Amino acid sequence: MNTITIAIDGFSSTGKSTVAKQLAKALGYVYVDSGAMYRAVTYFAMQKGFIKTDCFDEEGLISQLDQIKISFKFNHELGFAEVFLNGENVEKAIRTLEVSQFVSQIATVSEVREQLVKQQQNFGKDKGVVMDGRDIGTVVFPDAELKLFMTASAEQRAQRRYDELIERGEDVSYEDVLLNVQTRDYIDSNREDSPLTIAKDAIEIDNSNMTLQEQFELVLKLSEDKINLEA
Ligand code: C5P
Repeated sequence: MNTITIAIDGFSSTGKSTVAKQLAKALGYVYVDSGAMYRAVTYFAMQKGFIKTDCFDEEGLISQLDQIKISFKFNHELGFAEVFLNGENVEKAIRTLEVSQFVSQIATVSEVREQLVKQQQNFGKDKGVVMDGRDIGTVVFPDAELKLFMTASAEQRAQRRYDELIERGEDVSYEDVLLNVQTRDYIDSNREDSPLTIAKDAIEIDNSNMTLQEQFELVLKLSEDKINLEA
């Protein structure tokens, strides 16, 4: 069977990673969560004290970028690959609201993007990959055979994210989560380097009124059609 590259971009908390994971499993492809990589760099910057509320030592972070090693290891129990930062499993630590509040600022740094994009392109060099993020169809894999762009209202996305954080035991308010979603949308769409924008050949999917199953079936059908077309 022919293998293709599938790029899934979109705003924060549009459920990209849920559908990307399901799709990769169904097709036997590798799933890469590029947002987890930006989150891991953010976690590193927080641990080293390069980023705090109202202060970001960009030069300090850039000077230590060569000390950041990000890898993924498949967890058979969970059914997806967890992210490791310098050998430490940071899958849970990078999903907090605190990391979410700093990550878009870190993602504006061109040196960070350059390093992560290189690694992402390397993960996808043999195709057979489903990668989700903000610039996958525009910058990382501009030649991807299938590009999807997910959207949903900010309120709906915030509600989903809030439910997830509460389930994980985080003490957060819906208002803070909504503000974070809106702030990240703004920074991600307006940054100079690789802003979040829909690739001209992407298929837009508004999943506001779709169940996870409906979304998965649609995305699987689009992928299979592409794979058959390329064969
Ligand atoms: O996908 P997720 O919400 O975990 O991504 C966290 C943040 O990482 C985004 O808000 C964005 O600032 C950044 N990001 C990016 N480019 C990507 C993936 C994520 O700038 N390809």
